[in-house]
Order: sequence, then structure tokens, then C-alpha cells
Amino acid sequence: MLQRMQDRGDNITIRLNIQTQNLTEVTSRNTVAEVQGSEQPEKVVIVSGHLDSWDVGVGAMDDGGGVFISWYALVVLRTLGLKPKRTVRAVLWTNEENGMAGVKSYNEVHQDDLDDFIFIMESDYGTFTPLGLEFVAGAKGTCILTEIMKLLEPINATQAVKSTSVGSDIALWTGIIPTGSLLNDNDAYFWYHHTKADTMDVMDTDALDKATALWASVAYILADLKDDFPGDFSDSDSGFYSVPNVLFIILLSLVGFVLR
Ligand SMILES: [Zn+2]
Repeated sequence: MLQRMQDRGDNITIRLNIQTQNLTEVTSRNTVAEVQGSEQPEKVVIVSGHLDSWDVGVGAMDDGGGVFISWYALVVLRTLGLKPKRTVRAVLWTNEENGMAGVKSYNEVHQDDLDDFIFIMESDYGTFTPLGLEFVAGAKGTCILTEIMKLLEPINATQAVKSTSVGSDIALWTGIIPTGSLLNDNDAYFWYHHTKADTMDVMDTDALDKATALWASVAYILADLKDDFPGDFSDSDSGFYSVPNVLFIILLSLVGFVLR
């Protein structure tokens, strides 16, 4: 309506009566569940969403959808009797909407075992029809994720899109731990986001099932890789100039020099 008024050349004045206030803080908690790894249970792949929501609507899309697919990724693994080599952990963050105290606290508590976090996923931009995975990883990781996403061809969600930052909670691990976010057909996300329209009827059961399938598959494969998912963010995948190779080249030239 405001757009139409402006288009007509109307001079618009808006008065906002805002009565927000900060109340005393109270304790809330992250909710954590996991399927323990069979060989290296201390190593973890995280699937996540946030449990709190804005104070209008019911938070079905933001972020009930992310919570649902993360929780159900574990249910799917349990139901199918799949136990990957490493642990798959669902973390439902608290307080994303107002300061991200949940993820900050989790990060502090786990400072000594951050090396064991192999890959961290969060869905917080809608759970419409899934298209693939958006991620922050190095060149080697990008190769692996591109191959993994090809397996999602049956649900037409094969896109593997490299990004510089994903997620909301998990953005604090950008460049420290590889991270991923659900890529979905979310053009309509901001129709509902933080409005009274964010209710259960915006959730599409077929899209949710497909998003759950993607979330469970990607988490399982990452947790079951033979070698750990590469944690380096280097953009060169040849490894040609890595230290051992450089030493090898120097040695070769020395041998050549001696033989001459
Ligand atoms: Zn959110």
C-alpha cells in the first residue's frame, strides 16, 4: 500500500509508537540429541535450527522447519538403523532471535574440542522445496560436497553452492569449521518471516519430507566419510605447493645438481 501511495506521488509520513523494553534475563537452554558414531564418536557432524521464535505468529517457518528437519534427520537414521563412523548431533539453539546466547555459550563450552567438529549445518532460511546445499569450505571440501549433492538427484536437490558465510547461529564458525545451510526455493520466505503469517499452514509436508531426506543424507555421508572432511579453507585443490611437495622439488633439484 505504501509503495502504491509513493508511486502516486503521495507524501507519506509514518509515525511509529514503539514500546519495547529490555526485561531481566532468564536461563534458557539448547536442546541436544545425537546418534553416536560407531568408530570415532568424539568426532561430530552437527545439524541444527533454532527453537526460539519472534513474538508474532508461531515461528513455524522461522525456525520450526529447521528444528523439524534437524530432529527428524536423527529419527530417519535411527529408523533405518544407520550408524555412521562419526556422531551426528542435532542442536536446537536457544535465543537466536535476541543475541544468539545459545550458540555463543555452546561455542565457549566446546573451545577445547572444536577440532572434533567436522561439519556444522543449520537451516534458518525456510524449508520450502529443497534445491541443495550452500556451504563455506575450501576447494577440496567443495569437490566432496559437489559429489555428495549429485546423490540427491532423485529429489532434484543437487545444487552445491560455495558461499562466504551461511546460517545465522553458525556464522560465528565461518572460516574456522566448514559450515552448510539448506538451499531451498525460498523466494517467499520474507512473506512470513517475523510476521503473524508465520503459522503452521505455511509448511508444506512434501517439501519438509524432501528437506529432511537431504539433511539426513548429507549429515550421514559427511559423518561416514573414510577420511575427515577437509577442514582447511584453501582455494587450491592441487596441493602441488604444499610443504612436502616443495621439499620434494628441492630434493630433486639437489639430486640433479649432484649428478651434473
Ligand atoms: Zn530464524
